[in-house]
Amino acid sequence: MNILQSSPSVPGGPGTAGMQGVTILGSTGSIGMNALDVLARHPQRFRVTALTANKQVDRMFEQCRHHAPDVAVMRDVRAAGELQRRVEAAGLKVEVLSGENGLARAAALAQSSIVVAAIVGAAGLLPTLEAVRCGKRVLLANKEPLVMSGHILMQEACRSGAELLPVDSEHNAIFQCLPGGYRAGLPIPGLSRILLTCSGGPFRTTPLAELAGVTPEQACAHPRWAMGRKISVDSATLMNKGLEMIEACRLFGVSPQQIEIVIHPQSVIHSLVSYVDGSVLAQLGNPDMRTPIAHALAWPERIDSGVRPLDLVEVARLDFERPDPQRFPCLRLAAEAVRRGGTAPAILNAANEVAVAAFLDEAVGFMDIPRIIEHVLSQVPENEEAKLEVILADDARAREVAQRYIAGHARSPRRGVQ
Ligand code: NAD
Ligand code: MG
Repeated sequence: MNILQSSPSVPGGPGTAGMQGVTILGSTGSIGMNALDVLARHPQRFRVTALTANKQVDRMFEQCRHHAPDVAVMRDVRAAGELQRRVEAAGLKVEVLSGENGLARAAALAQSSIVVAAIVGAAGLLPTLEAVRCGKRVLLANKEPLVMSGHILMQEACRSGAELLPVDSEHNAIFQCLPGGYRAGLPIPGLSRILLTCSGGPFRTTPLAELAGVTPEQACAHPRWAMGRKISVDSATLMNKGLEMIEACRLFGVSPQQIEIVIHPQSVIHSLVSYVDGSVLAQLGNPDMRTPIAHALAWPERIDSGVRPLDLVEVARLDFERPDPQRFPCLRLAAEAVRRGGTAPAILNAANEVAVAAFLDEAVGFMDIPRIIEHVLSQVPENEEAKLEVILADDARAREVAQRYIAGHARSPRRGVQ
């Protein structure tokens, strides 16, 4: 990666008069709002230049009033019309855009040297790719595009000189534990393995027989992190960790065999890197996404994030356990997808997005999520050649197969697809 560039760009960069413009793709979400919180602490250093969202007009309008971006994009055309009316009535100088073109414009904006990729799901792929192609510093929270097409994002970054910096807390932790001057694409000197930690989610100790009946509210009540609903469900099934295993392979050029997943319920150690001499380096901190966001915004410098200092005595103990494969079948499915390679991770991701949306709509039960994904993986053959058009076609095919499977097994919620 070009995180991985050895000579990082000077903060401010040419033409920005010491001020860095920031686009946030997905500003109304959990990561987007955390990013705005960090940016607001550094008005001398950063300026919010563009914000994007899907449909949340109220929140976007408030963000326009507080952060005065040059551009605001609503993916949804009707929502954009509504925002336009409100922006005009309030006399704000914000250009309102809509649709995929609007997202691409925000990603490519000349006055933005930094783009925070914080859209949820595959919907973030094209705008993130646009930011990479334009050579921006791209803060990658949105992991699904990396799972689907990490090799393309990395190649494009090499071509354009974009800096890819991981914001997912585990990958940011790993990056912080790598040798200084680490360059993407090169083997990590002396690496033995990567230990990817996870909290185990809200159902770590729930009796297995009760899992089929859990509700979306229970699944979204994460014990340690406050996040969007899709990633909260992924954290409950541990598909989030499966996606993160693939994300780590893409970002750090390691094989799945070099990654070990460890449950760590306190979520204080965000991941570890183990070296051949027996040293194990870890990054610790309170579970608050503002730390990795601030790290990636200012890297290689450090800036205040607003996160409470870690009190080890208050934490008192750190526990670790291995994930139970029976409780968390999504881990096996993610491992299968990465072993099959090609477009299989994109197929896995698409099936998971459809299954999680159906669970959040109470159309299927919690344990149906891995069943749906398994069905899709068995029905949609992967393509070896993972070009962008092929990835997008297989993503669409996987969604279709997942939808058809769900529709064909219509049933009352929480009884299980047979
Ligand atoms: P969220 O649901 O809270 O926010 C998603 C944002 O994307 C919103 O602004 C929404 O308007 C926008 N969006 C949704 N669908 C869209 C579409 N079709 N087109 C354009 N914009 C769309 O999600 P989140 O929890 O902030 O997560 C964002 C990404 O970051 C995810 O990929 C997630 O896996 C990753 N991530 C999140 C956290 C976290 O703590 N929340 C941690 C690590 C990684
Ligand atoms: Mg994570």
